[in-house]
Amino acid sequence: MSFANKKIVVMGLGLFGGGVGVSKYFASQGARVLVTDLRDESQLQESLEALKDFSIEYRLGKHCEEDFLKADLVIVNPGVPDNSPFLQLVQSRNIPIDTEIHIFMKQVKAPMIGITGSNGKSTTTAMIEHILKTAGYKTWLGGNIGRSLLEELPNIKPEDRVVLELSSFQLERISNISPHIAVITNLSPNHLDRHKTMENYARAKQNLLRYQKERDFCVLNGRDVEVRSWNNITPSQSMIFGSIEGDVFIQDGWMIAKKQGTRIPIMQTSDIPLPGKVNQENAMAASCVGIAQEVPCETIASALKTFSGLPHRLQFLGIKAGRKIYEDSDATTPESTMAAIETLNQPIVLLAGGSNKNFSYEKLGKAIAQKVKVAILMGETAPMLEQSILPKDNIQIVRAENIEKAIEYARNLSSEGDSVVLSPASASFGMFRNFVERAEVFKKFINQYFV
Ligand code: ADP
Repeated sequence: MSFANKKIVVMGLGLFGGGVGVSKYFASQGARVLVTDLRDESQLQESLEALKDFSIEYRLGKHCEEDFLKADLVIVNPGVPDNSPFLQLVQSRNIPIDTEIHIFMKQVKAPMIGITGSNGKSTTTAMIEHILKTAGYKTWLGGNIGRSLLEELPNIKPEDRVVLELSSFQLERISNISPHIAVITNLSPNHLDRHKTMENYARAKQNLLRYQKERDFCVLNGRDVEVRSWNNITPSQSMIFGSIEGDVFIQDGWMIAKKQGTRIPIMQTSDIPLPGKVNQENAMAASCVGIAQEVPCETIASALKTFSGLPHRLQFLGIKAGRKIYEDSDATTPESTMAAIETLNQPIVLLAGGSNKNFSYEKLGKAIAQKVKVAILMGETAPMLEQSILPKDNIQIVRAENIEKAIEYARNLSSEGDSVVLSPASASFGMFRNFVERAEVFKKFINQYFV
């Protein structure tokens, strides 16, 4: 389809690259692109800079009805909820709606591997890419991680592999297409402010495999009863990880693959360089993808052994003032902070809290009470976290008004040999630009106080 002279409205430019990618894509095809965002010029500076060489019209700091009514096509940012009155207006006028990722998925010629789940998406995505690269494939990393791949469409060849991390927001508006391999890491409540119910959230995630064909594969977490049952939604071949009846599992310290009833040892779990049980799960999911792509188990093992992990996921920063310091700023859910507590050696000094995403902290609170020596709580979620820490007999709980104060307390209340970790179980908005900035501020004050 030609978009020359078509009026395209990009609703939500954002700062993650998708809005920029799709605006460039349509502008270079001669479309008349109007970008509109509720954020203003100063907030969107980086994205606007990336578009400065393109002829694009802007409506920033607000949306205007007339812009939408004149559109031939509206491209919606994944961050825009369905109940936006402007989007409802567009729908009521039958103006077509699409998204950056969906446009890419419909056109790309190479097989896609899509990864979603509530936790471990980015790590599993990066592991999969590393396995496929080690096996000799040219890979393209995109979706929620990396960048928009739309402008790479002409360069992506059918023999390449496209690895996409997909969020529930991105999946919500996907129709008629699913990746060749769909990986679901796990499922727990998240983003319910947007999706409203767990059913809606699960339904969005299921779009990853809903449109698969018989020749496709779905890789499902065998320890998650709900996720495991999703093989019923698709005719694709299912591969199960994490349970002994499945295709890849762990037994007696070994990660083992089962192919046509034969057990093939892949590697010892102690050779997985990333810490903790959750990373063993991620490695099992990634191995299933390797097996589906007929990568030999030895190649999968050598790739996993050289996988160095992503920053901000339980990253060891070194020993400072005799304390082992870990930065886990990307732990924005209770499950990921539970994973940190389960993985680290005691005694643990935990810095947690941030902005509220309406999580239930009941399970996390119990885990903290059992394993943490000192919990230093900050931000909007501090009272909820404090309430959920039960029993309170063996733990010291302290409130800090900001991250600097929290680090000062951590220095004074920790001893040599302790593990000191920032693992917030909360989002960063309101307090920081994003989890990367939170990590940078953490590192800065760690270096200042832990000398
Ligand atoms: P996501 O992309 O889903 O946010 P990441 O791989 O970026 O997941 O990891 C985010 C946080 O979750 C980190 O703190 C990490 O240690 C933790 N984590 C990683 N894998 C898992 C998993 N399978 N289950 C629970 N937590 C995980």
